[in-house]
Amino acid sequence: MISMDIEFDYQNDVYGFLDFENIDKQFQSKGIIDETPSLFSIPTHFAAYSAENSGQSASYLIKAEEDNFGGKLTPNISRSNDSESKDLGKKSHSKDSLKFSRKIAKLLVENLASATEESVVSVFLRASSKIMNSIHTAFDEKAQVMPTEDLIQSEVSILQQIWKEFRDCLSYKKNNKICLVKPEHWNRIFNRKTFADQAIKACQLMKNDPSIKLLLNNECLLKCFCDILFVVNLLMVFTLVIKDGSPKGGKFIKEIETADNLIVLMTNPDLFQYYNHRSGKFASECCGACKICRSKGIPVGFKSILENTRVKTSMLIDTISKVFPTNLQKIQEEQVIYLLSVVIQSS
Ligand SMILES: [Zn+2]
Repeated sequence: MISMDIEFDYQNDVYGFLDFENIDKQFQSKGIIDETPSLFSIPTHFAAYSAENSGQSASYLIKAEEDNFGGKLTPNISRSNDSESKDLGKKSHSKDSLKFSRKIAKLLVENLASATEESVVSVFLRASSKIMNSIHTAFDEKAQVMPTEDLIQSEVSILQQIWKEFRDCLSYKKNNKICLVKPEHWNRIFNRKTFADQAIKACQLMKNDPSIKLLLNNECLLKCFCDILFVVNLLMVFTLVIKDGSPKGGKFIKEIETADNLIVLMTNPDLFQYYNHRSGKFASECCGACKICRSKGIPVGFKSILENTRVKTSMLIDTISKVFPTNLQKIQEEQVIYLLSVVIQSS
């Protein structure tokens, strides 16, 4: 039985790594996963990350790239040893988050537009629809199951709206004031509460759809739906960034020098306001003199919050790489359900 975090208080709670041993055993016995993902130990990615210390050079994304493509890195992806890294302190990274966000929006909008039977997006959404239906029937045994295909179509429409609005607010053509990604932009996708608000708004525009009508009439079910959709959406972004190898897609994203920090911000958007886009560094690792470093609101223990988020991010990347060892087209529904059961709070 899945228990949802209805209050959305702490973003970190989305990664409620509970009872994994049991989940892993169940999936291993069915042959869905080969080995237990390293959820209980610090993965190799993080060890590499800690060694680098600065948070600037290639780390877990590069490691994931090596895992996915047999360790054969193209020279332009390997960022850590080139002379450029020596100048990182002086270099401006102001545009990195904008480039990163536009690329992930493009990837998601394109993938959602081709959500056909075999696409990776439909595999994720089919898994989430089935989980949604099992929650629905758990609430009410007599409840009629919502047709999976209808539910997938509704999910596609909701996500398309959210992603298109995100893309448009980052586009010079639609928003000529844009020069930097701000927390209010980032939260549209990565803050659970903001994402849910938009999903509910999209549902209200689709109130004649029978499945959506049913959700709108049951507040608790609607919150569960938004929560699952948020997690599925986040996992799709992570999976596409890690597994997509196209030069203008996943590969481009991985080549952004500050991509590792931006991935950390995907995991915990609350850190966004303490990230200096120009230096590409977090408050505790920046210059000590800029506006971000001197911000009065920096939480006590920021360094350990950041460190914990990096560990969680690394664990998530590690898990995705292990659950989906092959390419995007071969991702199976059972693997997605496994991944969801690892990430969604379980009890
Ligand atoms: Zn600074």
